[in-house]
Amino acid sequence: MENQLKNRFHFKVGTFDCLVINDGSIVGTAEMLFVNAPASELGQTIRAHGLKPDHLPSTWSCLLVKTADHLALIDTGLGSGQSAGGNLMPILADEGVAPTDIDTVILTHGHPDHIGGGVTESGEPAFPQATYFMGKDEWLYWTSEETLAQESEWMADFARRKLGPLTAVLQTVADGQEIVPGIRAVSAPGHTVGQTAVHMASDGEQLLFMADVALHPIHVEHPGWVSQMDANPAQTVQTRHKLFQWAVDHDALVLAYHFPPFPSLGRIIANGDGWEWQVID
Ligand SMILES: [Zn+2]
Repeated sequence: MENQLKNRFHFKVGTFDCLVINDGSIVGTAEMLFVNAPASELGQTIRAHGLKPDHLPSTWSCLLVKTADHLALIDTGLGSGQSAGGNLMPILADEGVAPTDIDTVILTHGHPDHIGGGVTESGEPAFPQATYFMGKDEWLYWTSEETLAQESEWMADFARRKLGPLTAVLQTVADGQEIVPGIRAVSAPGHTVGQTAVHMASDGEQLLFMADVALHPIHVEHPGWVSQMDANPAQTVQTRHKLFQWAVDHDALVLAYHFPPFPSLGRIIANGDGWEWQVID
């Protein structure tokens, strides 16, 4: 249980009760995360952060939000039965949340570490009372055999197993659409074709769930450095500029799914012509 307690974090956004749950952790490398960074500048930046290029820890920070009338889960981790992850369900259970309590599940994009926990190993929706939501372009991409052919067989098969069973319970969303009162979709393409970030507002406070717009705090300082996982690099950079500045302008709390340390919460602050990530303890 001690380990689990480090994997959950309660906080509030206005009147919304929020719980960050770490489904699992992995270690990435600079080679994966910053494919186009000039070598010497990258080396310097990584050293300045006190990090090692072949050991960059990463979280899977899912968010549970209790509003006045809804219980919403944003992203679901990798799910059980994989070589990593799968902590979401045991932590929910330990927090007294039954799968049937959750009425809204938002999937930011179709990568395995975001959709895996949404469907059980036996192929049923893991949250049987919930309506699931995903950006329309994203849903069409990951559920069409034509576009899945561009992905590795593992990614394609994962999407078939984890999205196929949601066909009857998933609604697609458009940019700006309110999903439940106080929670809306924000189009954030680039990392994937139709990624959706999530904006939450309650009682004058705001949170931006940034999903994989940026994968590491260094991407905030260097928004032009993209990762191997970013499908469209130019669009990734464009979306970062738009959302980073939005977060600054609105003084929003930001949850960045993969940012260490857990619970991946911080603020984006202006720094000269650019931005910087400020961790919230
Ligand atoms: Zn991810």
